Amino acid sequence: MARRPLVVGNWKMNCTRATAQQLLADLLAGLPTDAKAQVGVCPAYVFIPELGAMLAGKTIALGAQNVADQDQGAFTGEISAPMLKEFGCAYAIVGHSERRLVYGETNALVAARYAKAIEHGITPIFCVGETLEEREQDKTFAVIDEQLQAVLDLCGVASLSQAVIAYEPVWAIGTGRTATTEQAQEVHAYIRAQIAKLDAEVAEGLQILYGGSVKADNAAALFGMPDVDGGLVGGASLDAKSFLAICLAA
Ligand code: PEP
Repeated sequence: MARRPLVVGNWKMNCTRATAQQLLADLLAGLPTDAKAQVGVCPAYVFIPELGAMLAGKTIALGAQNVADQDQGAFTGEISAPMLKEFGCAYAIVGHSERRLVYGETNALVAARYAKAIEHGITPIFCVGETLEEREQDKTFAVIDEQLQAVLDLCGVASLSQAVIAYEPVWAIGTGRTATTEQAQEVHAYIRAQIAKLDAEVAEGLQILYGGSVKADNAAALFGMPDVDGGLVGGASLDAKSFLAICLAA
């Protein structure tokens, strides 16, 4: 089964209202309508309504950088899946390493966020990945197993047919230190094989993105690996020219 490549920009806590609009306008103007890859952007929450309006009827998809593990109620600071849905979000990142490591989100909380996205028809972009210390201690696969297992326990393997996984080695995020194509392929193939033990069809159809210092000059090599189905792009997604080059490399 041919998997369509997917490239998603994670804008993190960047842009002003004006620069967010300009960045999206530049992407809309520069992305060919027949691009091979599906392209998405995940701006900060406050920009979602305006950017969602700009994206109506366009080929670029809108996503959020997180999603609540509850539908509504006394959960200060959270944004729910029904709210995101109302503003046209097709994707929500869950389990980004900055959420896990800076804000202490556990595997259980990430799985609960993932479950809410699935329940409301939003595709979770479920991030997994090891720290440098874990890699050096040969714990990469064990860490990824635990991260995956939390989602499998709560939602089952079938849910992965409505999800995307992003392998993001923490040591490569925002550091300029990209995983080699072999390192990325090794982990992507491992993730797919683990899922295939449970459901071969789901594993075959699953888009597994690589994230971690993807740039215009390394994207084609990474995306050329058999189990790398595109990228989750941080820093380089804030520059329209660089991000468009990455999208076209997929
Ligand atoms: C990310 O934060 O998801 C990411 C991949 O960032 P960067 O591309 O800047 O490493």
